[in-house]
Amino acid sequence: MPVNIAIDGPAGAGKSSVSKLVAKELGYIYVDTGALYRAVGLYALNTGADTKNAAEVEATLPAIKVELKFLEGEQRVYLNGNDVSEAIRAPEASMAASDVSAVPAVRAFLFDLQRNIAAENNCVMDGRDIGTVVLPDAQIKIFLTASPEERAGRRYRELIAKGAEVDFQQVLEEMKQRDFNDSNRAVAPLKPAEDAAIIDTTGFSLQESAGLLIKHIRKNLK
Ligand code: C5P
Repeated sequence: MPVNIAIDGPAGAGKSSVSKLVAKELGYIYVDTGALYRAVGLYALNTGADTKNAAEVEATLPAIKVELKFLEGEQRVYLNGNDVSEAIRAPEASMAASDVSAVPAVRAFLFDLQRNIAAENNCVMDGRDIGTVVLPDAQIKIFLTASPEERAGRRYRELIAKGAEVDFQQVLEEMKQRDFNDSNRAVAPLKPAEDAAIIDTTGFSLQESAGLLIKHIRKNLK
């Protein structure tokens, strides 16, 4: 049976960067499930659907095909055959993803895709509900977190490095808004699984955080 490692936590906790390093160290694939919600959100934006209207979002699903491909360990996400791996990183796509992820039909639509990858591969999968809903039997579950200010600071520096013109206060507000949406939705809200280890990376570098996780995994993986 493949080894599945579930990593959940709020936006900006460093899940994707840390998970990538951990997957590389273990020789597993890294699956970023946020990319799936972003692809659905992007489709809604591109077709003019109101991302806050559940019925409108649900109506877009029959026209959508989302696929993940792994090229030399790098995940690429395809929306109706087009590689949207970069387009889904735009700030509008983040908020759209958060909106559409509250729609139960969207979560059901993406469920099998995530399960099938985990059933066939040793993987580190990150998201919001991996340990609680998608992979309740994952051998290792980690809830990665950090203070809102630290998480907004990381996201702010990332955007500035990409040449974006952003305001720290605005990044912090959007981060808090997304935390609130993700934690308070009726389906699959963001919360640690009962058997998850909670790891707080406030004040730790990326390398230090990855080191903490690898130590935890090696100790607990039977
Ligand atoms: O992780 P990332 O920031 O790319 O996720 C984008 C959005 O997708 C999150 O704000 C969250 O609302 C949603 N999401 C989710 N369940 C997951 C992964 C992401 O609801 N497993």
